[in-house]
Amino acid sequence: MIAGGGPAGMMAGYLLARAGVDVIVLEKHADFFRDFRGDTIHPSTLELMHELGLLDEFLKLPHQELREIRGIFNGHPVPMADFSRLPTHCKFIAFMPQWDFLNFLADHAKRFPTFALRMKHEVVDLLFENDRVAGVRAKTPEGELDIHADLVIGADGRHAITHTRANLELQEFGVPIDVLWMRLSKRASDPPQTLGFFQHGKLLVLLDRGDYFQVGFVIPKGGFDEIKKRGLPALHSDILELGPFLQDRIGELCDWEKIKLLTVQINRLRHWAREGLLCIGDNAHAMSPAGGVGINLALQDAVATANLLAAKLKERPATLSELEEVQRRREWPTRLIQRMQVFIHRYMVTGRSSGAGDTLPLLPRLFLWFPFLRGIPARLIGLGPRPEHIHSPEMP
Ligand SMILES: Cc1cc2nc3c(=O)[nH]c(=O)nc-3n(C[C@H](O)[C@H](O)[C@H](O)COP(=O)(O)OP(=O)(O)OC[C@H]3O[C@@H](n4cnc5c(N)ncnc54)[C@H](O)[C@@H]3O)c2cc1C
Repeated sequence: MIAGGGPAGMMAGYLLARAGVDVIVLEKHADFFRDFRGDTIHPSTLELMHELGLLDEFLKLPHQELREIRGIFNGHPVPMADFSRLPTHCKFIAFMPQWDFLNFLADHAKRFPTFALRMKHEVVDLLFENDRVAGVRAKTPEGELDIHADLVIGADGRHAITHTRANLELQEFGVPIDVLWMRLSKRASDPPQTLGFFQHGKLLVLLDRGDYFQVGFVIPKGGFDEIKKRGLPALHSDILELGPFLQDRIGELCDWEKIKLLTVQINRLRHWAREGLLCIGDNAHAMSPAGGVGINLALQDAVATANLLAAKLKERPATLSELEEVQRRREWPTRLIQRMQVFIHRYMVTGRSSGAGDTLPLLPRLFLWFPFLRGIPARLIGLGPRPEHIHSPEMP
């Protein structure tokens, strides 16, 4: 039983069903059509699609291809990551609405006879038998339902009920930022393949969604009320300071309703498992949007889970030490990325102005001087540390 139909839950569900394990995924929403989830499909994920024989069909879905990441640092354009040398079939990040990706996985998973997806099923509690997690209680359109299972995979994201009810200890790593999330239309004359506009601690992110940009504007944590007090014109001019070419459309943000606040968290469970329960993805480790790697990590957890457990689950329930294998495999890549995110938020992107002028900081300067260095962020973002490959069995 999998709680949560996000990237981690749907990929784990797909792979376990592909191996012939009986799987039911419970998703609390009626569909996958929600905004603000991140739309990046990384080269490592595209490689997984290739390994599953789904890549050609997947790439027929509408998407944009980002082959290099350019940032504008205090007005200077700097290429920061170059994906052209990655050892993968696709040397780009595909930008695709996450609902298309999740629908794609769901449609393919439904072809396996052992797969079931239940929308509008919200996990509200865990069921225990002798201190072992033995299933979940779910709120459904037909009322409450107890579902028993050999294993509950908690893939219910960063506000997970599964790890809360299982009393798993969460370590928080303070993040000094939040993000305002909004839409602005796109024009043909806009700068190409530019993702981030940095200015002395401030950051504006533009995600290309074809005819519009998904816009992220980093603010100091808890600072939204203050921003609202200053009024919309002041916010417009803060955004234009970083992206002046948006002047002709900034008026589209004419109402606070069009601006959503997303609180950023970085945390990690000390133990990802207990008897009968395994937590993966943002449930086990909430990620900041910095670097846009959370979806990738969540998917890699799902692949590792299937690699390590699918064959066993087909025969019998997994033991606690087998569940802990997943944490042992995935914890250090997670720690590494989270440490980098904490560093970025403490010292580079704080949401507060930390200077003036058009000086180019040392790090981006290095990317200009030594182009081969752009391969490092390309690997970290595009593949992540310890990329997983599909080794779980496939039923004929
Ligand atoms: C502002 C912001 C922007 C981001 N942008 C990016 C980006 O561009 N690229 C990137 O890689 N990462 C990004 N991230 C991080 C990324 O969103 C997460 O790391 C990733 O979605 C984790 O996937 P997941 O499957 O573990 O969890 P989620 O995507 O959170 O999925 C959890 C699923 O479980 C469901 N659920 C929750 N509770 C229950 C319940 N009780 N019962 C049943 N279902 C439940 C939810 O509806 C959801 O569908 C961003 C994060 C933030 C905050």
